[in-house]
Amino acid sequence: MSAIASHTSGVPNGVDKKLDIVVVGGSLGGLCTGLALKSLGHAVTILERNPTALLHNQGAGIVAGGDTLTFFKRYDRCGRQLAVSSQRRQYLDKEGKIVHREDMVQNMTSWDLVYYMLRANFDGVKSPYCNVPELREGDGVAKHLHGHRVTGITEKNGRVEVAYTTNEGKEGTITADFVVGADGPSSTLRSILQPNVERKYAGYVALRGTVPEDQVSPPTLEAFSERFTFFHTRGIQILAYLIPGENGTLEPGKRLVNFVYYTNFPSKSLDDPSLELAELMTDMDGERHRITMPPGKTDPKAWEKQRQIAKECLPPQFAEIVCGTKKPFVQAITDVISTQNEFLDGKVVLIGDALAGFRPHTVASTSQAAFDAMILADMIAGKVSRKEWKRETMAYARTIQKRGVDMGNRSQFGDLPLKEHIHDRNLASRPREEEIWPEWSIADID
Ligand SMILES: Cc1cc2nc3c(=O)[nH]c(=O)nc-3n(C[C@H](O)[C@H](O)[C@H](O)COP(=O)(O)OP(=O)(O)OC[C@H]3O[C@@H](n4cnc5c(N)ncnc54)[C@H](O)[C@@H]3O)c2cc1C
Repeated sequence: MSAIASHTSGVPNGVDKKLDIVVVGGSLGGLCTGLALKSLGHAVTILERNPTALLHNQGAGIVAGGDTLTFFKRYDRCGRQLAVSSQRRQYLDKEGKIVHREDMVQNMTSWDLVYYMLRANFDGVKSPYCNVPELREGDGVAKHLHGHRVTGITEKNGRVEVAYTTNEGKEGTITADFVVGADGPSSTLRSILQPNVERKYAGYVALRGTVPEDQVSPPTLEAFSERFTFFHTRGIQILAYLIPGENGTLEPGKRLVNFVYYTNFPSKSLDDPSLELAELMTDMDGERHRITMPPGKTDPKAWEKQRQIAKECLPPQFAEIVCGTKKPFVQAITDVISTQNEFLDGKVVLIGDALAGFRPHTVASTSQAAFDAMILADMIAGKVSRKEWKRETMAYARTIQKRGVDMGNRSQFGDLPLKEHIHDRNLASRPREEEIWPEWSIADID
């Protein structure tokens, strides 16, 4: 199928009828969208390529920004707390002494807890994480089909036909009034609709992992308990915070210390990796991973090198958690952004990471997914106009994506004084409502 220019006549803004909606991708963005649209009474089918009914948890943390919290206030009916709060931000020097601190409340959660709460609300999945809410009159039918990899999309008789291949290799189609692409930073829908948009390597990776809080030394626990703690040095940034533990527990003593350790791995591209990058991204069974090395698969020899570097370069508290993690994983940092978010006369939209894959420094990917879902539902319900929806989602995607590139490049490839890093970090925490979108980010929105 060829690329399609954006038109607007088909966009369902303020519709009375109940729509058949297909959401491609059943991770956080797809589930937020599915839940918000089912709450309006629309029939929602999520198509997720993952072969099993539940996505595989990497066990890592998420900073629950304003829009994530607002989303849960609006739509969650599980009746449990979502996040661990951190009261302060602080920066350490190489010896582990605090060199800067600011009081600032932030909420930290885990990807798995968010996922299970969304599944409980969307399609009633039972788990030890949370209660499943009662069915509510007026909600639309919610279906989640795993093992359905979407392969194509075509306009047919004023509706949209979505083609998929199942786990068993069967091909099928499903027709919808409206389709949402929430299929992540390597989005299939985006590659069909915007074939020229590329996902590019940023020149560094994030080494990630967790350690149970009861397995770290008292000074290390003190550095991270109710604290969002950072360290910067040339070519390196590491940060850590507490997140919920097994099955989403928030009980002190049972939570996890989560770290994200950015370090440079120069390479022309991910397809033609440098020797060092190839070594890091080749797992213990000899298989090469392009973007993410799953938890527990890292080659012990490659990881031992990183542990030695951590001991030499990081403050002792950070070195302890990097060396203590049992299942590290690696995420290559990439950039990608779609030039627009509506296609096929407005009957197909992209949201979340499929629209703009942010660098993790922005701590905004889940907030973007939550915001995109809420404002899309408000647009379909007629509470906001199509123009406002488009302006807000595109300006957010463009502004935050660029900010992440700038922050990441300054942090990894510059040699900045600490106050510059603090400035960048504080900018990334600015609430969305306080943003004044730059003219370049909205100039083409009509
Ligand atoms: C398993 C998993 C674990 C994660 N863990 C963390 C974490 O610990 N911390 C963190 O900050 N972020 C994590 N992320 C990323 C985080 O979910 C996103 O950055 C953010 O929440 C935006 O979500 P998204 O739904 O837009 O994109 P994503 O989370 O990337 O989800 C995209 C989904 O679309 C599916 N998909 C892709 N192509 C197709 C297709 N052709 N047909 C059907 N389905 C398709 C994918 O399988 C995936 O489930 C994780 C993502 C996944 C998928």
